[in-house]
Amino acid sequence: MPAGRYAPSPSGELHLGNLRTGMLAWLFARSTERAFLLRFEDLDLARTVAGSEDQQFDDLQAMGLTFDAQDGADRTRQSERMDLYGAAIGQLQHAELTYECFCSRREIHEAARAPHAPTGTYPGTCRYLSQEERRRRRAERPAAVRLRAPRSETGAATRFSVEDVLLGRITTEVDDFVVQRNDGTPAYNLAVVVDDHLTGVDQVVRGDDLAPSAPSQAYLRGLLYDPQAAAEVQYAHVPLVLNVEGRRLAKRDGAVTRAALQEQGIDAAALRDLLLISLGLPAGPLAQALESFDPKALPGDAWVFQPPNS
Ligand code: GLU
Repeated sequence: MPAGRYAPSPSGELHLGNLRTGMLAWLFARSTERAFLLRFEDLDLARTVAGSEDQQFDDLQAMGLTFDAQDGADRTRQSERMDLYGAAIGQLQHAELTYECFCSRREIHEAARAPHAPTGTYPGTCRYLSQEERRRRRAERPAAVRLRAPRSETGAATRFSVEDVLLGRITTEVDDFVVQRNDGTPAYNLAVVVDDHLTGVDQVVRGDDLAPSAPSQAYLRGLLYDPQAAAEVQYAHVPLVLNVEGRRLAKRDGAVTRAALQEQGIDAAALRDLLLISLGLPAGPLAQALESFDPKALPGDAWVFQPPNS
């Protein structure tokens, strides 16, 4: 069965921007007769907070989200799927579509790159190292693994596009992005692609800060699996919630989580209604909002939230 998903990182409490994105992901999935899956992205152990998984789950349920079971469980957890990521990285290595990268973050930042290359793109330093050079560098520091992305004869990166229901066509360069970090952890871009594919996800709804990664992920999905299926994934990158200064809402902005709002007298139903109204949808149970849900009628701009008593 085709599926949508919500994939939070269990790094603390969800704030109302996260809850709003989760509600939208549910509305998109259910309005298109898809299953809806929950996946905890807990590969970054340093950021994972004990107990936040159950708390996030409860908060999402309190908003009215329902999830479909996967192998008898109501959620998946990336930390339990390491074999699958290892297999995918092995598949790329076997096809000689990767190379070892020894660069530090600082070296990447300081390296000369082509004019107009988007910031954050990898300048290609380790792409053409000789065997000898690689041997020498391995003794100095552990290597990350990068995708050997296609280049034209002149060395230019390939551009790749996806269609987004809300943003239209998103086109970015497919960079030599990291598929395995130098501590051996699978990279976010790799894990997302493996999970989405293997759990039947063909609809990706998430915050629009992640829109620039969609073309690279779609490209990788086609490379690892079926290009046709990869091209049919539906994307919707939704506007974020901002604080009064116009910056992306964060927990430090005050009463922005379900628990903190509850203390201010705003219970779960009132919070759900606040979020629905911000989306131009009727207050009330989510199942009712589903009846009038129309992606084309969603507000195109970010929503600015001022916490009570701030
Ligand atoms: N785990 C990511 C986050 O919490 C979302 C990744 C995704 O939806 O692809 O921002």
